[in-house]
Amino acid sequence: MSISNTLEAARAADKADALAPYREHFLFPQKQSDNVLYFTGNSLGLQPKGARAIILEELDDWARWGVDGHIEAKRPWLSYHEIFANSLSKIVGAKESEVVAMNGLTTNLHLLMVSFFRPEGKRTKILCEGKAFPSDQYALKSQLRFHGLDPQDHLIELMPDPETELIDDERIIKAIDEHRDEIALIMIGGVNYYTGQWFDMERITDAGKRAGAIVAWDLAHAAGNVPLELHKWNVDFAAWCGYKYLNSGPGGVSGVFIHEKHHGKTETPRFEGWWGHNKEDRFQMPDTFVPINSAEAWQLSNAPVLSMAPLRASLDLYDQVGMQALRTKSLALTAYLEMVIQDASKNSGQAIRIITPSDPKKRGCQISISVPGKGKAAFEKLSAAGVIADWREPDVIRLAPVPLYNSFEDVYHFGQLLTKFLKD
Ligand SMILES: *Cc1c(COP(=O)(O)O)cnc(C)c1O
Repeated sequence: MSISNTLEAARAADKADALAPYREHFLFPQKQSDNVLYFTGNSLGLQPKGARAIILEELDDWARWGVDGHIEAKRPWLSYHEIFANSLSKIVGAKESEVVAMNGLTTNLHLLMVSFFRPEGKRTKILCEGKAFPSDQYALKSQLRFHGLDPQDHLIELMPDPETELIDDERIIKAIDEHRDEIALIMIGGVNYYTGQWFDMERITDAGKRAGAIVAWDLAHAAGNVPLELHKWNVDFAAWCGYKYLNSGPGGVSGVFIHEKHHGKTETPRFEGWWGHNKEDRFQMPDTFVPINSAEAWQLSNAPVLSMAPLRASLDLYDQVGMQALRTKSLALTAYLEMVIQDASKNSGQAIRIITPSDPKKRGCQISISVPGKGKAAFEKLSAAGVIADWREPDVIRLAPVPLYNSFEDVYHFGQLLTKFLKD
């Protein structure tokens, strides 16, 4: 069903949308006492209204109990990280034992590469997408150097097509095949942060596993955005940020997935800490590390409760909605944004190139557009008019209509503003 580009149609679509009430669970930045049009949930998710209360509860329990809060707090701090596993497992398609919330994303990528990037013999290379997010490039290159390997020779970066800026799934699979004896690790961003392209994770994982490589995904832009089946796809490990689609607040806690086939192995090289040690005798302070038989074995420290608390407020909403309903709305809302952008181009006579794949199976809820010549001026006018979007040099605007809190009316108004500013 397509929704026409009118205010009435957008409002009718919001009225018919079962997820529309969830917008009320979030705090929107204000501009002249109006909500801004917020399209940067792919960068920093909005604050769930429940976040403040849940942090205050922890402050209250700290005041009331002091150290005894580890046992007596409403959500005991000793096992605090456990309150996230069930919800996260549903978001990424995993068993509860395969996920844990801890640290930051880049930290986690390093910790997991310590265990799973083990170059040996001919198998020494890492394959990744070209123009990967800079932090991922730094992480991969420094891991190679850490093993005494020159990134020039050992990092296979599959460059995007210069015309489309996308990387064809087939090309990735072909490259895996070509380098099948040399690849130790494949690590790709599941949804590309710049183009919004969602790779065929299942097929790429399968090709990588058949080539004998470890297959890992950076899900910074995928977790909470697109439906995932990490366990079923036989992914070795993955990590994501909590503060983008998952709304855990600035610098909020990351999450990791480690397939159960890797659990409980004492021989796995790992940077170890007491929070990864067997819970039964952790406090008897034994001097030999025995890993917990789950993803928790990769934890180092006890949980930073105050900074993790807001994630729980957001996951309560994810639990209620579920990824399937979220994806259904996401498909409709993203298609609507795409149409509204195409209309803006037609009605203003200004060429707009949509970089993000038009195939809904190859994208989540982000649309990246390139507006040659007029991009920056239009972006600045949009910002002044209360649109929060993301600018990338030289002429790219990234927009994420987030199904948990953006409305069809948001998208409609954006289209009107874009048309106006492209005409100016
Ligand atoms: C946002 C993002 C990061 C950020 O890393 P942090 O460690 O959370 O600061 C890393 N990689 C990708 C692909 C991202 O999109």
